[in-house]
Amino acid sequence: MRHEAETGDRFAEARAAMLEKIAQETVETAGWTGRPQLRPEVLEAMGRVPREKFLAPQDVGEAYRNRPLPIGCAQTISQPFIVALMSDLCGAAAGKRILEVGTGCGYQAAVLTELGCDVWSVESISALYKGTCTRLRDLDYAQVHLRHGDGTQGWPEAAPFDGILVTAAAAQRIPPALIEQLSPGGALVCPVAEGGSLGSLLGQPAQKLCLIEKDAYGVVSRRAVLPVAFVPLVEGS
Ligand code: SAH
Repeated sequence: MRHEAETGDRFAEARAAMLEKIAQETVETAGWTGRPQLRPEVLEAMGRVPREKFLAPQDVGEAYRNRPLPIGCAQTISQPFIVALMSDLCGAAAGKRILEVGTGCGYQAAVLTELGCDVWSVESISALYKGTCTRLRDLDYAQVHLRHGDGTQGWPEAAPFDGILVTAAAAQRIPPALIEQLSPGGALVCPVAEGGSLGSLLGQPAQKLCLIEKDAYGVVSRRAVLPVAFVPLVEGS
């Protein structure tokens, strides 16, 4: 894990500005999300992760802009505000067991680790999986459990999870295995493509970030939190 002193480098100012931007966008979207602020520990964790180390050399200069960036294989790392919001919504906190579907470059997994979570993360693209195994090890995030495969099946041997994050957009339905693998009292955050006819025709169905909560009795509720744009979740990959 990283500590502030270690990352107090030439990006420190940009990283602090990113946190400001996240706080600002949190306020701007509160009408949707119902959260005018995120838990301070989420922002603190993001302040400790060197985002520039998750990017290709040509994108490093953009590392702390509040926007998505390419990570190879036609995939993207989410904008920092969305990473923060999803971490907050899924209840990520010290000692929580969190499953991530869509490891990508490993940035979200690193943020969850800095929050003190035990993290399991599944990636379906072999090249990304391999690169991220090396990156997370080199950055001292070796404790993240990584798997190459179809994350829509979850990680049954490690279930149940206190929180689940899906970082690619499901087509209409949230994979049932993920809801099953959520603990009572747990929260699952997943972008869902609404698949409206116009959106589908344009090749860009509207997506909403959905929050699925399972209460202490196992009763599941769902609400849309925010319009978003994610790469598609590939079922059966
Ligand atoms: N959370 C990532 C961003 C991921 S982009 C990060 O911090 O970098 C979405 C990722 O989901 C892509 O890497 C994509 O390959 C992966 N993905 C898509 N469908 C998947 C599936 N069924 N199982 C696992 N990973 C999947």
